[in-house]
Amino acid sequence: MRLSLNSLRPVLEGALDLVFGSLCLLCSGPAPLGSGGLCPRCRGEMAPLAGGLCPCCHGSSEPEEGELCRACRASPPPFDLARSYTAYLGAAREMVLAFKYRRRPGLARAMAGLMAPWAAGVLAEAGGFDVLVPVPLHPKRLRERGYNQAALLARRLAGALRMPVDYTGLTRVKPTAPQTGLEVDARFKNVKRAFRLLGEEQFASKRIALVDDVLTSGATAAECAKTLKLGRAQRVVVLTFAGALGTGPDDKT
Ligand SMILES: [Zn+2]
Ligand SMILES: [Zn+2]
Repeated sequence: MRLSLNSLRPVLEGALDLVFGSLCLLCSGPAPLGSGGLCPRCRGEMAPLAGGLCPCCHGSSEPEEGELCRACRASPPPFDLARSYTAYLGAAREMVLAFKYRRRPGLARAMAGLMAPWAAGVLAEAGGFDVLVPVPLHPKRLRERGYNQAALLARRLAGALRMPVDYTGLTRVKPTAPQTGLEVDARFKNVKRAFRLLGEEQFASKRIALVDDVLTSGATAAECAKTLKLGRAQRVVVLTFAGALGTGPDDKT
């Protein structure tokens, strides 16, 4: 087997990190060994979602103890669960924005590294899963951006969780307008019928972990889940790096 310098690079970087630590991926401050590439301050800002959380969507709209939030009670979402690793604030928000809009696809590695142990726990508690499915981008947006951040995250997560990813089964067929600035109702309308399954039976009876970088209104995740359920998916658990249900900034995909 021939080894190129490029194929060795991750190994070398990993070894250097182990010996010397590295610079924080977000602020360039010193990131100690085993910190996942973040300095203690940035790492410390990645706090779990807090408050009275809805057991279904994890929206912090202060539901009664253990009860669903008002939105989920009024209209149960098509996904079975939605969970975010951290709140969409501070360093986590910075990371998502850099990842998506400042051409830093390499951040997928650190984000998935942070998410992986947590994701394994969420999925085990939800009864296991069969396949990871990233929220797809429309081909036009994919060409503009050059990469689908959700797919990069899913690929890294799949590596850590040792599970398959399906990159093509769920497709985006409608070039939706950016969600930014839209009210919640308009966001749901905007993504309506935006997705389609490649094959009708592709996800039948499958337990799916739907992966995205951020969950804001939940409209995109809900429409994806609806499409997957129409294809008779058994269960859809939404996993995102950051969550800001109900607050809705910067959800442009
Ligand atoms: Zn930092
Ligand atoms: Zn809810």
